[in-house]
Amino acid sequence: MRVTFVGVGEAFDERLPNTSLLVESGDSSILLDCGFNVSCRLWDYAANPIDLDAVFISHFHADHYFGLPALIVRSMQEKRTKRLTILGPSGIESRVQRLMELAYSNALTRTGFEIFFIECVPGEDFKHSGFRFRFALNDHSMPCLAIRLDAGGKSLYYSGDGKPTDATVDLAEDCDLVVHEAFTLDEITLGHGDVGTSLDMARKSGAKACALVHMKRTIRHTMMDMIRMAVDTRPEVNGFVPEPGDVREL
Ligand SMILES: [Zn+2]
Ligand SMILES: [Zn+2]
Repeated sequence: MRVTFVGVGEAFDERLPNTSLLVESGDSSILLDCGFNVSCRLWDYAANPIDLDAVFISHFHADHYFGLPALIVRSMQEKRTKRLTILGPSGIESRVQRLMELAYSNALTRTGFEIFFIECVPGEDFKHSGFRFRFALNDHSMPCLAIRLDAGGKSLYYSGDGKPTDATVDLAEDCDLVVHEAFTLDEITLGHGDVGTSLDMARKSGAKACALVHMKRTIRHTMMDMIRMAVDTRPEVNGFVPEPGDVREL
């Protein structure tokens, strides 16, 4: 399994694109989250972006799904014909239809490719596009699905936004890589994780490595020394702070 950090930023960072991961295994590929300033970066990193099998949306905040119109319309322009699956929380189909209507009216009627929606429910596992999918709810200001993907004997956990919960710790058990939001360094923020809590979550789940993403822009840009110190105090977690374009082979 190959994980490319297409974006690693929070919602409004002027330097970093929204957090988004391209996950590839064999011939299958899926994009995890698709925020408003990141979606076309897929064209920088995917070998063949119009062959993308699926997009997973963790929750309905714009920095996680408002990039879908650009991704869909650019795929149309490039004559995509392959079916695209969009997975997300309850209501994903109507949300995307409304968003597309506002962004590019009637585009969905002339995409040239089928868009297939799957509503994801915590505790309901399935296989699709070469991956096994599992979900759990994070502690965020709206329902947010953390996801676990397994393929080819490797496993990835991605938190979306939110503090870890008992269910997400269980979901991430023994994963090869946990990618967790860490919005603050150590300040308690409603509905968001912090560096220490996210690293501790990865340790508790027995993950082999932990990438910290979606950091508050003021902290990420000015306090990297302290972030790295917090990572270094937990060497067993193998924590790291990825940059856009970084690739991790699992
Ligand atoms: Zn976010
Ligand atoms: Zn959010």
